[in-house]
Amino acid sequence: MLMENVIDKNIEHRKISVLGAARSGVAVARLLASKGANVFVSDCESEEKLRASVQELKSLGVKYEIGGHTERILEADLIVISPGVPSNISIVDKANQKEIPVISELEISSWFCKAPIIAVTGTNGKTTTTILIGKILDDAGIKNIVGGNIGTAFSGFVQSLDEKSVAVLEVSSFQLDHIITFRPKISIILNITPDHLDRYDHNFEKYIASKCRIFENQTNDDYLIYNYDDEETQEQVRRLASLHIVTLPFGIEPRFDEGAHIENGKLTTVLRGLRTEIIDVEQIGIRGIHNLYNSMAATLAAHLTGARVSSIFSTLENFKGVEHRLEFVRELNGVVYINDSKATNVSSVWYALQVYNQPLILMLGGRDKGNDYSKLTELIEKHVKTIIAIGESADKVCQEFSGIKPVVKADTMEDAVNKAGKFAINGDIVLLSPACASFDWFQNYEHRGRVFKQIVNSL
Ligand code: ADP
Repeated sequence: MLMENVIDKNIEHRKISVLGAARSGVAVARLLASKGANVFVSDCESEEKLRASVQELKSLGVKYEIGGHTERILEADLIVISPGVPSNISIVDKANQKEIPVISELEISSWFCKAPIIAVTGTNGKTTTTILIGKILDDAGIKNIVGGNIGTAFSGFVQSLDEKSVAVLEVSSFQLDHIITFRPKISIILNITPDHLDRYDHNFEKYIASKCRIFENQTNDDYLIYNYDDEETQEQVRRLASLHIVTLPFGIEPRFDEGAHIENGKLTTVLRGLRTEIIDVEQIGIRGIHNLYNSMAATLAAHLTGARVSSIFSTLENFKGVEHRLEFVRELNGVVYINDSKATNVSSVWYALQVYNQPLILMLGGRDKGNDYSKLTELIEKHVKTIIAIGESADKVCQEFSGIKPVVKADTMEDAVNKAGKFAINGDIVLLSPACASFDWFQNYEHRGRVFKQIVNSL
């Protein structure tokens, strides 16, 4: 099929199959149906799990199948794949063989977007940065909607955006895998470290390539904001970014002609030659060097979008972060409890371990995604008193660290909190920062964080 035909935005009467009937699948089905497309939705989950989706599809009058993907999907000019559906399933192979284009919900939604897009990607920090940008724009009186990989799917709100508003999107590599024309006005790459490699044939290069697609359609009217201190990101931007895009690095050392850095203890931007001191680093509400990076990225994006410095300053000062990310839970008998359940990979724990000066009781483990824990050794030696090993990977955690620090295994979250409480003394911090997925003991990381908080609050 010719590319012009694939991306023809007049989708009336076109046959479009949607793979996945969860949140974004249903939202995109609604969007496509409203544009007059002939939509068919397919999901391999059971009716019981998809009850709400099925109801919604019925009320939209959209045809669907559940409990498996049949060849009916291939009776389409176009297939939209949801981010939760792996690209290597056989029906996608068959679509490729038949040369039916497979695109993401992000791609097709962007066809109908009148607003400029700020798109945030990276291995860690996407949610924090995306929400922070939305908050800064809100406080500055700039109309925007935040969503994508968090909150509402892009297809669920794209039609509410006009030319004067801004779409602030958290974008995952799975969405970027299937773009054609997606072109943000401002793209942001926060960092690239190994994660989700099970979806990329255990090939880090493929994951990197996917993240970098965020800027592949940008032109000289657009901006790419990227983390200069993250070697992988720096290297890829140097290699792949077209010379035409305006690239804006951020990093700690003050060495950029254009971008953001820390100078005399202040977050400082340089844009079109103009140096602006935004805020004293100590005044920023979210803690840790990783959050300094997130703040620099968000500041640049908001500044470019027209937010005033005084407004950016007050949002950075007041924003206290997002639930489950280094979230303060409680102080009890001089012991502080912190919920960092969203730390589902080694890199996020590596940053968490540098945030606090107090001795840490670290709760580590869960469903391991092939973690290399050795990257944490040095910081654990320096900051951690005791490790509480939790979840499926407790034995691996014990093996890795028992020669270095006391490691205690726990059988449940309650057991873990009780054991942590026994080791902690006045002035210590109990930190749940597991470096693992949560699906061994919990439904998801939110569930893990909530259970942790409930137990801590009932002590
Ligand atoms: P994402 O949406 O990319 O998963 P989050 O903002 O939800 O990112 O944060 C996920 C985890 O990573 C949390 O534990 C958080 O403290 C940590 N984190 C946040 N920003 C960064 C960053 N820039 N670099 C490394 N870790 C980070």
